[in-house]
Amino acid sequence: MALPRKTSKLTAVATAVALAMAPIPALAQQAKGPPVIRDTEAEQLLREYTRPILRTAGLEKQNIQIVIINESVFNAFVADGRRIFVNYGAMMQSETPNQIIGVMAHETGHLAGGHLSKMHEQMAQAQTQMIIAMLLGAGAMVAGSRGGNSNGGLANAGAAVVAGPQEMIRRTLISYVRQQEENADRAGVKFLNATGQSAKGMYETFKRFTNDSLFAARGADPYVQSHPMPAERVAALEEMARSSPYWDKKDDPALQLRHDMVRAKISAFMERQDTVYRRYPSSNDSLPARYARAITTYLHGDLRSALAQIDGLIQLQPNNPYFYELRGQALLEGAKPAEAIAPLRKAVSLSNNAPLIEMLLGQALVATDNKAYTEEAIAILRAAVARESEAPLGYAQLAMAYGRKGDFAQADLASAQAAFLRGDNKTARELASRAKTRFAVGTPGWVKADDIVAAKPLPGQNSN
Ligand SMILES: [Zn+2]
Repeated sequence: MALPRKTSKLTAVATAVALAMAPIPALAQQAKGPPVIRDTEAEQLLREYTRPILRTAGLEKQNIQIVIINESVFNAFVADGRRIFVNYGAMMQSETPNQIIGVMAHETGHLAGGHLSKMHEQMAQAQTQMIIAMLLGAGAMVAGSRGGNSNGGLANAGAAVVAGPQEMIRRTLISYVRQQEENADRAGVKFLNATGQSAKGMYETFKRFTNDSLFAARGADPYVQSHPMPAERVAALEEMARSSPYWDKKDDPALQLRHDMVRAKISAFMERQDTVYRRYPSSNDSLPARYARAITTYLHGDLRSALAQIDGLIQLQPNNPYFYELRGQALLEGAKPAEAIAPLRKAVSLSNNAPLIEMLLGQALVATDNKAYTEEAIAILRAAVARESEAPLGYAQLAMAYGRKGDFAQADLASAQAAFLRGDNKTARELASRAKTRFAVGTPGWVKADDIVAAKPLPGQNSN
């Protein structure tokens, strides 16, 4: 499966995940496509980066998910105790696996410490309180000064109002946040040491964001907002990191290559074509550069040239599932679904049945309009949605396959599930109500449809 782009049928999903993020204003405001990026290769790499850290933190049983957010600025945060959110920009800006692993270790520190969204909530709340206090204080001062000399006492009272709550809130907030950040740093370094990894990358990344650095001075950086980084904190981190026996440990070259491949893929899908060619000029013969150019060639319409480039990649790494996935996706989007089937089958098998790739295969089977594929498509898509229940694409394709078979009860149910995952509750309820009339009362399909009809709109959604 691919990363989203503005002009294509989006394979990214706005799921229940997105709704969990609704309270975060920066995300609620964005209007540039789906908030979440789904890509097996990138997700798999981030999972491998994070798994040992979660294990050593005692969180391996919590089934913590890594969610990639469609944002180019650097950010990573935890918000609900079940997920670590990472902007794709954080991957792009991390030159080594160790740098992003350090960030994940710090975020795991927040998870393990149970800091979670409390900190962000407290910050948002305190910021609001601070603004209100400032406005009230300023109002009082203006009123006071207008009263003239005879009311000098009131004017001073106004100034006192400003300094009072604002300063108190500010101090409480700062100490609260600092404490949590220091705890997360300490926990992060401990996790890295316990897994035999260097905390150098974590230090390098945070140093970049030190509050008095040029980077931070540029203003409203979301990472600095959620992770204030005074110089003394970074100094303390450096001391901890340097004292580790792993300080100088280098990333495994094979892992560095996979990291560079994912960064190349993200660049190719998310950045302007001229930017992609500037980062990966044709003079650069490395595998990541060739990957980026193959992707951008297919995205910009030259299917024949893209396929030739992808075949070159496959020759170099014949067991890389993501090259076959790319070939299949290029063919599928190039309106050649029958030709997409073989490479997608290969990608499914090489990726150990990655559900997002299975969904793409299901989509290709359905898109052929060949009824001989209908049963197989249904079987593959059902298996995929059972393991990956938050991607609407699987249900949407399943609905089409059932429709082709003439099973309209299942088709309505699957359409309802797709609509529900897209956050379209009104359509989900309508389709589920119709599905209920097609199933016998009390059958599993009827029960699932009934669940959707009865489901409460998720927070932030319109209930009608
Ligand atoms: Zn933090």
